[in-house]
Amino acid sequence: MTSEPTAEVVDLCRDLLRIDTTNTGDNDTSVGERRAAEYVAEKLAEVGVESVLHESAPGRANVVARIPGADPSRGALLVHGHLDVVPADADEWSVHPFSGEVRDGYLWGRGAIDMKDFDAMVLAVVRHWQRTGVRPPRDIVLAYTADEEAGSDYGARFLVENHRDLFDGCTEAIGEVGGFSYSVNDSQRLYLIETAEKGIDWLRLHAKGRPGHGSMVHDDNAVTALAEAVARIGRHRFPVVVTDTVRAFLEEVSDLLGIELDPNDPETAIAKLGPIANIIGATIRNTANPTRLSAGYKDNVIPGRATATIDCRSLPGQSELLERQLRELVGPDIAIEYVQRQPALETTFDGDLVEAMSAALRAEDPGARPVPYMLSGGTDAKAFSQLGIRCFGFAPLRLPADLNFSALFHGIDERVPVDGLQFGVRVLDRFLRTC
Ligand SMILES: [Zn+2]
Repeated sequence: MTSEPTAEVVDLCRDLLRIDTTNTGDNDTSVGERRAAEYVAEKLAEVGVESVLHESAPGRANVVARIPGADPSRGALLVHGHLDVVPADADEWSVHPFSGEVRDGYLWGRGAIDMKDFDAMVLAVVRHWQRTGVRPPRDIVLAYTADEEAGSDYGARFLVENHRDLFDGCTEAIGEVGGFSYSVNDSQRLYLIETAEKGIDWLRLHAKGRPGHGSMVHDDNAVTALAEAVARIGRHRFPVVVTDTVRAFLEEVSDLLGIELDPNDPETAIAKLGPIANIIGATIRNTANPTRLSAGYKDNVIPGRATATIDCRSLPGQSELLERQLRELVGPDIAIEYVQRQPALETTFDGDLVEAMSAALRAEDPGARPVPYMLSGGTDAKAFSQLGIRCFGFAPLRLPADLNFSALFHGIDERVPVDGLQFGVRVLDRFLRTC
């Protein structure tokens, strides 16, 4: 392997992509996390960084290491990345999803942008530092986690609940889904830094009725009651609420694109954002999408119960309000059970760390315009924020103007531009030296 970090990152990322770490959400069928964790531990050990490996269940492995900084009195920076990936069906792909092939300037494979790219960038920078004697300004804690794609129970949440001492002194963190570019024109690019995340509110609706024969007149049918409630939720549009993060984003973007921003109607401005409209559009309101239905066991039997799952995402501070809104929509006869409830996050776009991110981006791309944004999904940051850590999404990537980045997340033909990966290493190197 070559030792220049911009060259090595490609080898490291390719090696990680070739380790199938599919997370099916089921311990019996999920694979590879242990192998990937051992790979990371070995690459750290090669350059003298000791790490600990913790399994939450057989095969579900996490790796954590601490790199001592020059000033131990300062709080540590947590740099976290997950090692698992969502499943990929090879038949749908142009290349095998676990081949780690380089083609047309891209490195292809499941996990190429979510998020073995960042895992490899961090490794490349740390290995380079160890070889050349660079010491970070403060402690850096590296965490490579399992199970992010299925709720983090065997990964970040396990570490936070059982090994919180590993994160002693961590005050801030960087992780996935931020720092990527969105081209405004040839000379200017927005870099979306994640400062907020919507909450996860997954719930099950339970309808009860009188069981009976399918041939009879029947006015107390659980399936009918459930279907009505599901349809009301699915068709409902929750009111627009513009948080500080989204306002800051929209102001900057409108200014840059010359779009008129009406604070009472942000949707008109958002509709003009092209491929990122669907990312931003989900961050101005609570959302609730029905995802599963279950009822009955025979064609001519009216069942006594019916259930549905609703994937709800709440804006910061709105989880309780959303619950009240949902109760109103479904009515008194349908019971609501929460199966997952994780808080939204929001921090401000200011301070030394944000300055360091912005300066590193501008140094490598003079046309960089860093902006805060809210992620509509969730990441391991939810677990780490439980420790009082201020979390950001900052996995820097410069992307070609015509690449539909958001479509690649969990998508077919996931791939990362090789030069974007190398750009990320340079930005991360600068940023971590000044964090
Ligand atoms: Zn991810």
